[in-house]
Amino acid sequence: MPRWFARTPSGDPKSRSHLRVGIPRLLNVWSTHQFWWGFLTALGIEGEAIVFSSDTSEDQNRQFGKGRGTVDCCYPVKCGAGHYGELVFGQKRKIDIFFSPMIYTLPSFLRGHVAETLSCPRVMAGPENIKAGFIKEKDVFAENGIRYVSPLVSLGEPLIVPKQLYETLKDVLPGLTLEETRRAVHEGYQTLQDFNERLRAKGREVLEACAREDKPCLLVLARPYHMDPGIGHEIEVDLQVYGYPILWVQYFPVDPDLLGWMFGEDIRAGIVKSPFDISDVWPSSYSSNTNEILWGAKVAARVPWIACVIRLSSYECGMDQPTYTPIQQIVERSGTLFFSFQDLDSTKPAGSVKIRVETIAHYLEKYSTEIIEKKKASMPPGCPLLRDP
Ligand code: SF4
Repeated sequence: MPRWFARTPSGDPKSRSHLRVGIPRLLNVWSTHQFWWGFLTALGIEGEAIVFSSDTSEDQNRQFGKGRGTVDCCYPVKCGAGHYGELVFGQKRKIDIFFSPMIYTLPSFLRGHVAETLSCPRVMAGPENIKAGFIKEKDVFAENGIRYVSPLVSLGEPLIVPKQLYETLKDVLPGLTLEETRRAVHEGYQTLQDFNERLRAKGREVLEACAREDKPCLLVLARPYHMDPGIGHEIEVDLQVYGYPILWVQYFPVDPDLLGWMFGEDIRAGIVKSPFDISDVWPSSYSSNTNEILWGAKVAARVPWIACVIRLSSYECGMDQPTYTPIQQIVERSGTLFFSFQDLDSTKPAGSVKIRVETIAHYLEKYSTEIIEKKKASMPPGCPLLRDP
């Protein structure tokens, strides 16, 4: 009998507290990991027994992922082998369950206002693709007494999530019931929502400070996993060193007063139906991360203190290619600076990134006051960012 099973003799959640669960921190786990944390702890897994793999790095890939690549793919998926290997081979205390969800839809703040919030097909299928490199000669998971668990989960549709997770986990966590899964899923969403709200509130503080002091800030338009230093190469961090606050579109504040101010005129003119409607710029709004990036471009165009947009994209990303031109046009037509770093892969060409970062800082220093003034001249009245706190 596998060891993980022997250590969970009953359905009492307390009996699961000994289990160690490893989760590869890649792709859309970057925007949903709080859900998985809330969900698993509600099922009785101890917080410190939930192990996320480290940030992507060349060392991680060399040490744990080498020779385990499968199909030729975009860079963020390629990095998966290093994350998988680290969780299997690189733990002082072995994990019992390898948990790698195949995320079909995402719980985007745009859901209900766009056609769909699907994840990229490579994100959905990523776990199967990466796993293949660990079972092609022998089943590395079984050999190490690790149970591989990979539920297909529609996180954008909360009502069906309990059933999806229960069907996969009922054989892994003995005694698990659908009702218990339902409660844990609720906890997961609550944890994710709390986290998102905290970061959005911070984003609002940053925007208000910039508006009060007429200071520029930068908005990053990228996929959530570009926050991984090994995927996005911390280009925005290099810019922050120059004193410019950085906002990510995923955590942009969505308070009704701000949304009403930014999009009220467009709604009244019948251009869009709601502040989250992007059909005016992106009719095929099926992909969640792409939708959010397009929405971010519209936001950047409307907020004067967002003086510059940084666009990040990975090597061999087929999803991003059709968005390059529309996003650049939306941003630049508003007079906002736009800089794009495409085809990011394992190498951070330190010299060229440094030169580009210095160029961006130079442009901001020289033009940001003018950009802010011009954008302010055409902004709608009653900006809520300028109200007294
Ligand atoms: S969106 Fe692009 S980078 Fe991300 S998984 Fe899909 S193809 Fe790869």
